Amino acid sequence: MEIGGIEMYRRKYGRGFRPHISILLDGTEFHVDSSPGKRGWNLITHAHSDHYGQRNMDNPRAVASAETARILEAATEKEYEGITFDVGGKIRVQGQKIETYPTFHIHGSAAFFFRNFELLITGDVKDYCELPECRILVTEATYGHPSHVFEDEVGKLLDVASHNVVLGAYPIGKAQRVAEILKKEIGFRAEERVERICRAVGICPDENGPLIVSPRNLARYGGGYILTAQNFYRWPKITLSDHLDYRGLLEMIHHCNPETVVFYHGKPSKALIRYLESEKIECKTLEEIKN
Ligand SMILES: [Zn+2]
Repeated sequence: MEIGGIEMYRRKYGRGFRPHISILLDGTEFHVDSSPGKRGWNLITHAHSDHYGQRNMDNPRAVASAETARILEAATEKEYEGITFDVGGKIRVQGQKIETYPTFHIHGSAAFFFRNFELLITGDVKDYCELPECRILVTEATYGHPSHVFEDEVGKLLDVASHNVVLGAYPIGKAQRVAEILKKEIGFRAEERVERICRAVGICPDENGPLIVSPRNLARYGGGYILTAQNFYRWPKITLSDHLDYRGLLEMIHHCNPETVVFYHGKPSKALIRYLESEKIECKTLEEIKN
């Protein structure tokens, strides 16, 4: 389907589709946060498993930041065979010039900007301040409902952490955010896999301090606190998110000033779609894009 003059589609797979979207630019296919294709290049915005970098470890046509590659290697204990770039730098892939920008979602997370097409693909975003203006914005809507408004509770984290508790944090991304906050004030310890990923981005655990574990291992340690903005855990929660909340999402869209927004990850609410329509911004969701 043509969106803003650019062909975007989803590859068929069984009865459904491959993850996320593919984009055809001057005859070259770019698969965004998807599983490897027979043709084309896989752009990996960051190392979270629902963005499919782990499926691309032995794909020589995968494109990820050097830090994302290091995290993927630490998480999977396999070698990444794709091409890498430093976030903030430029790369050339099959003749296409791509600028990259930090999104501060997790270590190594990067947005891809095809300036010739004024096309920006953000991946997940925590801070939009360094993103460029664009004509077509391909972005996330994890917190795409007006009820999703929150503040990070860093003070509460430090209070709780001073009592040597166990902290449940997703090993890729959240655990490093928590570790960096604790590192400055208290120090931290980490279970093995979390420690491996922390060390891959240069954060070393201490002798003492609260223990960071994967949320699914909290019960094994007798429980503790969960670090998240989501509401589906049974443990007491400290809000600490890697994403923009609803207000931040709207601010990012205004900052990037697009004519068209494509929500390729997470589901925008009807309220968000109506709001963009009222602002004369065209809006497309993943469900609307077919092969
Ligand atoms: Zn993510």
